Amino acid sequence: MPAWFKPDLFVPSVTGIDLADLKARGLAGLCFDLDNTLVPWNTADVSREIMDWFAQVHAAGLPACIVTNAGGQRVSVVSEMLGVPAVVWAGKPSVTAFLAGAKLMRVHPARVAMVGDQLFTDILGAKRAGMFTILVAPITPRDFATTKILRLAERFFLRRWRREGLIPPGYRS
Ligand SMILES: [Mg+2]
Repeated sequence: MPAWFKPDLFVPSVTGIDLADLKARGLAGLCFDLDNTLVPWNTADVSREIMDWFAQVHAAGLPACIVTNAGGQRVSVVSEMLGVPAVVWAGKPSVTAFLAGAKLMRVHPARVAMVGDQLFTDILGAKRAGMFTILVAPITPRDFATTKILRLAERFFLRRWRREGLIPPGYRS
């Protein structure tokens, strides 16, 4: 069962993702979760570091998009700041929105890396869509009440993967 939502890669934050390494793995597009992956939960506060890192993504010629269960003005603001389109009201872990993201980028899902902070939405859904998956640590501990419950289950699996040596030191406490 854990294989359904076991990330391919654990990276502390988006800016720690090695673009050259992704290209070497044959990946050609990037999908991003919004809340607690690109911005603190329920904000449009894009940091300077994220802005600079997205400049590198664009310079590397990698298409990117946002796939978020949120929608509205806040998503449009971030989408515009980063210069990438967004699939909104995604209903993750449903596969539909992930496939829509891949289609937007004109990249086959198998060559897309999905970056997110939640196992049971971002990682589970992207794996069902056949994507490569990267789990980042959430930017803030703030979340929906329902997400907080899922975090307890996440911690169980993260402990297990840490014991198995899959998680690099300093990933998250
Ligand atoms: Mg999130």
